[in-house]
Amino acid sequence: MTQKIAVLPGDGIGPEIVEQAVRVLKALDLPLEINHAPVGGTAYDLHGHPLPPDTLKLAQESNAVLFGAVGDWKYDKLPREHRPEQAILGLRKAMGLFANLRPAILYPELANASSLKPEIVSGLDILILRELTGDIYFGTPRGVREAPDGPFKGQREGFDTMRYAEPEIRRIAHIGFQAAMKRQGKLCSVDKANVLETSQLWRDIVTDVSKEYPGVQLSHMYVDNAAMQLVRAPREFDVIVTGNLFGDILSDEAAMLTGSIGMLPSASLNASGQGLYEPSHGSAPDIAGKGIANPLATILSSAMMLRYSLNQAAHADRIEKAVQKVLQQGLRTADIFEAGTTKVGTSQMGDAVLKALG
Ligand code: NAD
Repeated sequence: MTQKIAVLPGDGIGPEIVEQAVRVLKALDLPLEINHAPVGGTAYDLHGHPLPPDTLKLAQESNAVLFGAVGDWKYDKLPREHRPEQAILGLRKAMGLFANLRPAILYPELANASSLKPEIVSGLDILILRELTGDIYFGTPRGVREAPDGPFKGQREGFDTMRYAEPEIRRIAHIGFQAAMKRQGKLCSVDKANVLETSQLWRDIVTDVSKEYPGVQLSHMYVDNAAMQLVRAPREFDVIVTGNLFGDILSDEAAMLTGSIGMLPSASLNASGQGLYEPSHGSAPDIAGKGIANPLATILSSAMMLRYSLNQAAHADRIEKAVQKVLQQGLRTADIFEAGTTKVGTSQMGDAVLKALG
């Protein structure tokens, strides 16, 4: 059956890197229908909105979205609702993308890129699963008011609300256990249950869901300890599942362990397996149009798409192995270049991955 992919290249280096990923997808010779649409600043210039109705419709009607990146300094003065970044928030909301998967992989060939010692971090392969649509970022009530009580009664105070409903925790927990089953079978749930009621409920529900996954080894960790363990012994982790706030911080920390932002893919999924796949980096306006951007994060995002939304795990493996092979061959874009390797541009890197696919 033909599966539909919406390709939204966006701004900056988005079109250059997405082009390489689309070449790789086409080379797999799968029954895929690939449609392009504008998003971000490019869409604002063309249609007056960063997420035009036709782009949103195409995304919603597709099995998966391949997203480049959005944003450019030239749009910084626009009103907030017209800024390119609003397109991502709009897609997440309209498609109900509540589960954000961010692998942090450090290929042995790139071990020197990390700020940690190679013996601690080389071969790192962890997956951070962050709940994306709940928690203190969206909880109400929120605002700035006159403090109604406490030692600063009557003074101006800001307040937010951390909330998680049981079904929200349950559905992200299931994704965590299922992801762990596809990997090394270890799930670490991160919370702050010693202080927060929301976290205690989180811990209770995750423990309850674990009964359905006897093959997965579940552990719990407080977020402050998790932040420490990620730099002390990151390879101890397999899959980490956590809420929106803690996941925001830990996923960036884990990404930085690898030292190479141009290598990191990500996925955001909804309950029916539909997903948005994008590199973890932004639109890099400083290098846009120069043909030097690293396309590997986007190519690896397309592998995640095959695994999580299109049920084509064998093809995902093929792409990931091809990426590893080009690194072993010593090919590097400028961001990951070091002495003794061969510097290549964006499309040459794409050529090399295509060749390595066989
Ligand atoms: P950025 O990730 O775009 O760039 C940070 C640095 O990393 C830059 O020096 C850039 O050249 C480099 N870099 C990033 N991706 C690279 C790649 N594939 N190959 C080689 N080098 C790469 O972050 P920024 O500079 O803070 O933001 C630039 C724009 O991107 C802003 O408008 C921001 O809002 C937007 N942004 C978009 C997304 C998204 O679309 N999901 C995410 C983050 C930032």
